[in-house]
Amino acid sequence: MRLILLGPPGSGKGTQAQRLVERNGIVQLSTGEMLRAAVAAGTPVGLQAKDIMASGGLVPDEIVVNIISDRIELPDAKAGFILDGFPRTVPQAEALDELLKRKHMKLDAVVELRVNESALLARVEKRAEETRARGEEVRLDDTPEVLTRRLASYRSLTEPLIHYYSERRKLLTVDGMMTIEEVTREIGRILHAIGAAPGKAAKKAGSAKRRATKSAKKPAGTRKAAPKAPAKAPGKRATSATKRRPAAKKAAKAARRVVKRASEAVRKGSKKAGRGSAKKLTKRRAKA
Ligand code: AMP
Repeated sequence: MRLILLGPPGSGKGTQAQRLVERNGIVQLSTGEMLRAAVAAGTPVGLQAKDIMASGGLVPDEIVVNIISDRIELPDAKAGFILDGFPRTVPQAEALDELLKRKHMKLDAVVELRVNESALLARVEKRAEETRARGEEVRLDDTPEVLTRRLASYRSLTEPLIHYYSERRKLLTVDGMMTIEEVTREIGRILHAIGAAPGKAAKKAGSAKRRATKSAKKPAGTRKAAPKAPAKAPGKRATSATKRRPAAKKAAKAARRVVKRASEAVRKGSKKAGRGSAKKLTKRRAKA
């Protein structure tokens, strides 16, 4: 799976990328992270990028394109990758298209996290607070002033990518204002829909298989539990179980019989109870 995560600073790209990594066994390639590491290590690229990054500007395309070009060749990126923070401009997107073509790699999708700009400052402030609470160093560019500049740069240079990828039928837009959990679920759902990720259906099939195996191993439990099921839909569970296993079929049939008997008893009982209600009884007695 090869993806791009698109969204303004603070839209949750990093968080969602981590989750995609855990779920799909791919790597997250964040140009921001790589550049910060280069700055920390004092490499020539780091020295070149340091001041640009601190002011919220963009590092020259040539540098980031080269970083990505080398990085996606490494063995851990074979199973796939998520690009986070790259491409950030149309020329970077064109360069990426070129280099993927050269390397015979196909991009599956571009996931755009759409958020209200008004929420971004609060999010970035929260991120800085949490980083401080963990005792880690806060990013130099996570300040309101720099964020404003980064947002302006996103609007003018990165947002045109939405049109770029939409035209190429790669764009999938997700509401980034939902909870982290909901955004993750939505991304999973759309990636599954385009056939880029194992989705719920596959996971459900797996758990259904596990459930069926369990019920086949414990027919007594099935029989015991079934009469307690609501009499309204007695056959529902049994029918799906029937489809799954012959052992479950037998248990389901027995359960249906028990439920039928039980509901008949309930019906008869309620008729009797109706006839012998206190009011009628008093009337009958008064008549007599
Ligand atoms: P990020 O962690 O993605 O917010 O990136 C932090 C900073 O790294 C940005 O504000 C830029 O200065 C620089 N940077 C990261 N990715 C790129 C890119 N694709 N092109 C240019 N500069 C980048």
